[in-house]
Formats: sequence, C-alpha cells, structure tokens
Amino acid sequence: MSAPARGPLPRPDYRELSPYAPDRRPVEIDLSDNTNLWGTHPDALAVIRGADTDALARYPSLYADALRQAVARRHGVKVDQVTTGCGSDDVLDSLWRSLAEYGGTVTHVAPTFSMVEPLSRMNGREARPVAWSRALADPETLFEGDPLMVYLCRPNNPTGLQAPSEWVERVLEIAGDDGPVVLIDEAYADFATDAWIPRVTRYPRALAVRTLSKAYGLAGLRVGYGVGSASLIAEIEKSRGPYKVSRLAEAAAVAALDDRGGWVERTVHECVENRARLRAALDDRGTPAPPSSANFVLLPVEAGRAVPTVHALREFEVGARPFPDCPDVGDAIRVTVGPWPMMERFLAAWDTV
Ligand code: PMP
Repeated sequence: MSAPARGPLPRPDYRELSPYAPDRRPVEIDLSDNTNLWGTHPDALAVIRGADTDALARYPSLYADALRQAVARRHGVKVDQVTTGCGSDDVLDSLWRSLAEYGGTVTHVAPTFSMVEPLSRMNGREARPVAWSRALADPETLFEGDPLMVYLCRPNNPTGLQAPSEWVERVLEIAGDDGPVVLIDEAYADFATDAWIPRVTRYPRALAVRTLSKAYGLAGLRVGYGVGSASLIAEIEKSRGPYKVSRLAEAAAVAALDDRGGWVERTVHECVENRARLRAALDDRGTPAPPSSANFVLLPVEAGRAVPTVHALREFEVGARPFPDCPDVGDAIRVTVGPWPMMERFLAAWDTV
C-alpha cells in the first residue's frame, strides 16, 4: 500500500513566500542593520567569558525567569507582565501564533519592518498595509476589515517616525478591551523620547516588544522581550514554549539589562548626538533626511535609485539598506548612525555617489 499523493507540500500562499535574505556580504563600514556600532555590551561580554560552560550540557531555564525578572526591574513592571524570546522576531511570532482564530487579517502601518508581512502570511493570516499618512490622519482606517491584530512600529523602521503618543492612545482606545490585539514594536524606543513600556500594561490586549539587538549591542545573542497585561502574556507564553533563550544568552542579557556601568546610556546618548550631526551634514549638502527618533536615518533618493545607490556606496566599502518604492516615501536608503568616523566615511562616499 502507498499513501495517497499530496501534491506540493506547503499550502499555496506559503509556497509563494521567499526567505528573508537581505544582502549580508561583509563590508568595512556596515550601516545596513541598525545594530549598535559602538560594539557589544561589556557586562554581557564579561559574563560570557566567565561562563560555566559545563552547564551547557543541561537545558536552560524553561521560561527564562531570571531574564523576565531583569526586564521587570528595568521597566518597573511585574514578572508576569513579561514574555521573552530568541530575538524580538520570536516574540512577534509567538504572539501571532497565540491569536486564537485561524485566517483573519493583520493590519500593519506601511512602510514598516519587512518581517511583518511574511510573518503574518506564514501564520496563515492576511497582511493588510495601511500607509502611515492615512493611518495618522485617521486611526480608524487601521480597523477596517475587522483585523485580529494591528501592528504599529514606534519609532518606525525604516522611516524613524515616532508617532504622537496621543495618536497611539487613540488607536488603543478604538481597539478597546476586547477588540484586536495592538502590537507596538519598540525595537528602537531606546533612541526615542518616550515609550509605551510600562504604560502598555494598562491595556488588556496590547503588547510592546523590545530587543537587545539594537541599543544593547547583542544582535548576535538573539534576545527579545514583550511587555503587556498578565492575561495576554500568559497566552503568549503558551505558544512561546520552553527553552527559547539559551543559558549564555539569558545570563548575558540580564547583565546588559542591569547596565551597571551605564554603557547603553552612553552609547545611546552619542548615537542621538551623531544623528543630529549627520542630519545637519546632509542638510548642508542639499540632501536632507527627515527627522528620526531611531538609530538610523532614511534618505530619499530619486525614483528607481535606491538599489543602484546602495550598490554604488558598496564600492566605497559602505553598506546601507535600499528601500525601493516605499509607501509615502518613494525610493530611499536607510543608514545606521554610528561613531562619527563611520559617519565621515559614509558622507565621503555619499558625496561621490
Ligand atoms: N522589530 C523591528 C522594528 C526591527 O527593525 C527588528 C530588526 N531589524 C526586529 C523587530 C527584530 O529584531 P531581533 O529579532 O533582532 O530582536
């Protein structure tokens, strides 16, 4: 007997997806991925260097309790208001999977973090983009079509826009206590002037997500977390499952979050200063970048020039990320802000291309 033929295995909407694969070829000055260009958190490094490696034969803690406690300390929330994961991508994925219904829509602002659309589709949900200009003018447009979830990114990747707090409040008010889940992605909130952690915990169906990949200089370690109401967190923890954060990652992340020597504060401060300095230098050249509340700026370029511009910068060993044909923006390139000598290298290349 042989089993009946099933045809191509993945469902048709999944088959169409391609793996996330930005250009990661090495380049001397890599300004393409918004990581901390001042390096890795020194307290985390010290923990990794002194780690009890014999313990690696054993599983890590089930639900990363020490990390949850460190997040709770850092933000003044309770441990049961915190979930964690292998990068904030994983926290987003756990939330998507925990939403009760199959099918349904995820509404997201556009342009935004490029994983949101594929994550929605991988999890069997339709992604519905709403241009930022439309969403800001009328937050009710985010709720058209009865979505399961509304995704906001604040400050937004790739524009750097920090949507007004009153506007976020209005979105949460429309969602209400039993409407769609509102996800506020705060991957870049360390570089902004205010944030939704901890006040997000007042809303039963809102989650704010953070990462240690940006301000904390630990992208290679893969640690992210979410903060929300205890009832929402309890649901997400189920789909998260056990052992998501490795032993080394958890111990190092705890040290980084405690930030005893103030490394995060110092590098964020310098980054914010360099962001202003870079924007001023771009203004002087007649190629202004819009205001940004993140550790990057988005530079508009002529229509059709995003990819060629990034290729041209690469000739000077400078990496940036192209954003062709973005809603509201058109073609643009995104440049991470780092120590000033790196910005000088970028500006010298920019002057030539
Ligand atoms: N959210 C946003 C807005 C991002 O830009 C990124 C990474 N580029 C992530 C989440 C994921 O970060 P990580 O998985 O490294 O925590």
